[in-house]
Amino acid sequence: MTIRKKVTILGSGAAGLTAAIYAARADLEPLVIQGLQAGGQLTITTDVENFPGFPNGILGPTLMEEMHKQAERFGTQFIYDNAELVDMTKRPFVVQTSGEEVHTDTLIICTGASAKWLGLESEQKLMGHGVSACATCDAFFFKEKVVFVVGGGDTALEEAIFLTRFASEVNLVHRRDSFRASKIMADRAKSNPKIKFFLDTIVEDIFDVSKGEVTGIRLKNLKTSQSQDYKADGVFIAIGHHPNSDLFKGQLKMNENGYITTDGVRTSIPGVFAAGDVQDETYKQAITAAGTGCAAALEAQWYLERLEHESSKKNNSDSNSQKAVAGVHE
Ligand SMILES: Cc1cc2nc3c(=O)[nH]c(=O)nc-3n(C[C@H](O)[C@H](O)[C@H](O)COP(=O)(O)OP(=O)(O)OC[C@H]3O[C@@H](n4cnc5c(N)ncnc54)[C@H](O)[C@@H]3O)c2cc1C
Repeated sequence: MTIRKKVTILGSGAAGLTAAIYAARADLEPLVIQGLQAGGQLTITTDVENFPGFPNGILGPTLMEEMHKQAERFGTQFIYDNAELVDMTKRPFVVQTSGEEVHTDTLIICTGASAKWLGLESEQKLMGHGVSACATCDAFFFKEKVVFVVGGGDTALEEAIFLTRFASEVNLVHRRDSFRASKIMADRAKSNPKIKFFLDTIVEDIFDVSKGEVTGIRLKNLKTSQSQDYKADGVFIAIGHHPNSDLFKGQLKMNENGYITTDGVRTSIPGVFAAGDVQDETYKQAITAAGTGCAAALEAQWYLERLEHESSKKNNSDSNSQKAVAGVHE
């Protein structure tokens, strides 16, 4: 089936749903192609305590359900599917899902970035229950607790340093004996008395799935092949993110890590906007995603208004020249 739209939004995280709320309230009847993770990354966490408006915090999935309802209330249409193909060389742009072909005047890309995980079963089961991928979001829950941070890049060291403000003990686990991080960051972490290093070390398991909370961690030293269990209250996985931008490669400008390059929220193609984590290598927060989602919807609205204005100007001048040819005087 072919659907014709003025505004199509790819992704239903904080960026996509905020863009939908704004576009729907501007009477643009947007379509949201939700992707297979409807609600986005916040659906895999528990308490969100830093999204404004919820003094007692709110569960991530609840926050996303509320955003969805708010977008629906103003007339947003939803498709629960992935965009499988996007052609931005044509106007209107074409988006294909498994069952639909969408022709759209503007496109707002909000496909997010996925945190990379270690791949342990216990890690997935304890996510939001002591396992986190975001110290900015969750450090506050670990006051006077023992935490482990996994990774060796700038982000891991930044997260470890940030966590020392809360936790009683921060342990950094890295599979090599030297860091990918900048020297300045590594020096800063090394000089912090609260940070202990486990180098040449990997995480073998996280406990205790049966209790539904993190109580410990099993580490293996790669040089000695020895495994040892440690008490832990939290485990922060900081091994990077992958922006979900593969679909747009070769069409949109991106940086070397695959984040879509934006000027504000405008991409390299007029009429295509990007918001949220897919274009934000730095902040990666729900509120910044929502903020850029709002900006993208406003930009799409203004872009459509300009298109309409130009086309009505063209129609007027065409009809004036036809009248002139026919010798009509008004
Ligand atoms: C465990 C965890 C806890 C977090 N806690 C907090 C917190 O407490 N506070 C905070 O501010 N931030 C938190 N964050 C970060 C926050 O979740 C993100 O910054 C935010 O979700 C980004 O929103 P987004 O809309 O850009 O992308 P996402 O939430 O990543 O959503 C991306 C959307 O794109 C869709 N999608 C992907 N590919 C396609 C495709 N091909 N076609 C169509 N759709 C597609 C997905 O289905 C999804 O709906 C947390 C993140 C994690 C992982």
